[in-house]
Amino acid sequence: MSSLRLTVLGSGTSTGVPTIGCDCAVCLSTDPKDNRLRPSVLLHYGGYNVLIDTTPDFREQALRLRLKRIDAILFTHAHADHILGLDDVRPINYHQKMVIPAYGTDETLDVVKRVFRYAFDGAPSQSSSPRVDLRPITEEPFELFGMNIIPIKLMHGDGVSLGFRFGRLAYLTDHSAIPEESKSKLQDLDILFLDALRHRPHPTHSTVAQSLESAEELKANRTYFTHICHDLPHAATEATFPPNVRLAYDGLELEVAI
Ligand SMILES: [Zn+2]
Ligand SMILES: [Zn+2]
Ligand SMILES: [Zn+2]
Repeated sequence: MSSLRLTVLGSGTSTGVPTIGCDCAVCLSTDPKDNRLRPSVLLHYGGYNVLIDTTPDFREQALRLRLKRIDAILFTHAHADHILGLDDVRPINYHQKMVIPAYGTDETLDVVKRVFRYAFDGAPSQSSSPRVDLRPITEEPFELFGMNIIPIKLMHGDGVSLGFRFGRLAYLTDHSAIPEESKSKLQDLDILFLDALRHRPHPTHSTVAQSLESAEELKANRTYFTHICHDLPHAATEATFPPNVRLAYDGLELEVAI
């Protein structure tokens, strides 16, 4: 295994951009980079596809990419914008004829089980349901298809979400703060993704200014901001950043040596 490819399936915040009912310049923009589905990425390494989060836009994201296979799902946390597309893995189940392993903390998996009760209660049903095998993880590193994955604890307001490090790439969505003990796991990165919702402060998300500070402190070669709301026009916002910090956009593909 020599390289890992990351594809951004969605770079938007929980409402997506454009946002329903909004006529702001970003929501009306014709720049495709201002069009942001809900936050998710796909990792491809060693011939395997690993999906991070199943957003309410998962169906559209999978169709855009002509995605036929998912070998595993990693959940960052159980907010609606990160789990509600789980039912749409059913066609993937049919195609690849296997139950998909899905990893998350106990807390996250409990919510997944509650929200998608029909998929886990074992009750007989005439309808199909997503076939996933829920596998609890903690902050301890774990192995997946030959890759050592390091969960990164993040503060998401009063709650917790997990980032994930794969070799020299780390994907940190939904966070308002990165605990000190987590920063030590984020050294020597080639690529780092950070939550950067908007300029105005938010109780559960990092702002552009906070994430620029984190980028400077963590010193990855390249840093990309994601979970972006309609306050940030792509081109104009990026123009204010240092060259090694960029805004992610849907369809962005990155390759990293591992
Ligand atoms: Zn979110
Ligand atoms: Zn708007
Ligand atoms: Zn969240």
